[in-house]
Amino acid sequence: MSKYVDAHCHIEDKAFNKNRDEVVKRAKENNVIIITSGASFGGCVRALNCKRLYDIYLTLGYHPSRVNADDKIINKVYNLIKENEKEILAVGEIGMDVKIENIKRQEEIFKKFLELSKEINKPIVAHARGFEERIFKLSDQPIMFHCYSGSLELAKEIGESGNLISISTLVCFSEHHKKLVEKLDIDYITTETDSLIYLQ
Ligand SMILES: [Zn+2]
Repeated sequence: MSKYVDAHCHIEDKAFNKNRDEVVKRAKENNVIIITSGASFGGCVRALNCKRLYDIYLTLGYHPSRVNADDKIINKVYNLIKENEKEILAVGEIGMDVKIENIKRQEEIFKKFLELSKEINKPIVAHARGFEERIFKLSDQPIMFHCYSGSLELAKEIGESGNLISISTLVCFSEHHKKLVEKLDIDYITTETDSLIYLQ
């Protein structure tokens, strides 16, 4: 029987507090494998609990929208990931976003988690809106580009060098994303819902 993979979602988000059991049950009944992604300290703690409770897959990271947090919080997430390295498939989501302020600090935080991924020998899940090329150049770890929205040319380069392009639900209404799926080799495409989406 075919299995589907939701390669990036946020089932740990508080928005699912009311119906998380039901959502996970429905996914399992429909052969959907869930990979949930902690994106803040609280989110990472909740995501770890979800993994244990529902027997789903996990990545842990720190979303670039949280750029203004001080080092104390960032170190807490860093340590939590390190302590739970055996529980995770990858470090992420981590990255940079052109629509969020303080690019310099975003890059600094991204590099810190990138170093951690090397240390614990895990791939990364990158949130790279507007910085697809920069993240690709900065990283020497395998990457899954979550919710990829960059160019077709770069996507080919990314895929051909052993990384993954994850296509979100944007494919339902964006011509660019439809074209990406049409033209890219299916071997390096994953699919995701990104539920719940943090930012527009
Ligand atoms: Zn996400």
